Amino acid sequence: MKGFMQLWNFPVDTCKFCFQGWVVIAKEKSSGKLYVYCNECMVEWESPEKYLQKYSGSSEKYGESEEPTKDEVSNIGWKRYINKQLQDRLSSN
Ligand SMILES: [Zn+2]
Repeated sequence: MKGFMQLWNFPVDTCKFCFQGWVVIAKEKSSGKLYVYCNECMVEWESPEKYLQKYSGSSEKYGESEEPTKDEVSNIGWKRYINKQLQDRLSSN
């Protein structure tokens, strides 16, 4: 369960589904897989593309997760999905 997680280093968007949370890039600790999830409605998507296509996500598919590193985000090609404005706002808090 990810309820305790506070990830915000790599925000993608304000959630299109609940309009309250942020969709952020996370990494599952056990598999090392990157995915995105909303920190409010807790829906998960395999990739930012799927989220942006309004593909319905899953819940509880991924286990305990952590912030990916900048290199991991850029290696998988997801750096372009990071919302700079949102990132600046979150990191200044
Ligand atoms: Zn949401």
